[in-house]
Amino acid sequence: MILALDLEGTLISNAMSQFPRHGLWHFLELCNTHLPRTVLYTTVREPLARSIAHTLVQEGSAPPWFSSIEYIEWSGAYKDLNFIKGYPEQRTLLVDDNRDYIDPEQLHDWLLIDEFAYPYAEDHELQRVWAEICQRFQIDAEW
Ligand SMILES: [Mg+2]
Repeated sequence: MILALDLEGTLISNAMSQFPRHGLWHFLELCNTHLPRTVLYTTVREPLARSIAHTLVQEGSAPPWFSSIEYIEWSGAYKDLNFIKGYPEQRTLLVDDNRDYIDPEQLHDWLLIDEFAYPYAEDHELQRVWAEICQRFQIDAEW
């Protein structure tokens, strides 16, 4: 089981404002506790993504492990899951708010999350998506 997480519009607002989404800490902690491997799959280049992750940890919006999360290097028009070592032998899901980055042939491995967008109101998307992750991976872990 591999869970790939988009960053902007999924976990945070964007790389500029970096507002954490409601429930972020808890969501990431559930991922770390119940899934063997969680990776970051984002258009944000690694140095900035790491800096954002570090800030989120420092301010208490993300658990400490998040600052050393595995980062997926990729190129091309789509977030091709083949850039993730272990795919497709291991079941993989990508949580992303933007369909434009999803390889049309990998739609079945994609979980759509509503974009976390202005005015960045509290929502329950991470909780909803967690329930979907549990269902798709057939694990039993309540929010
Ligand atoms: Mg996004």
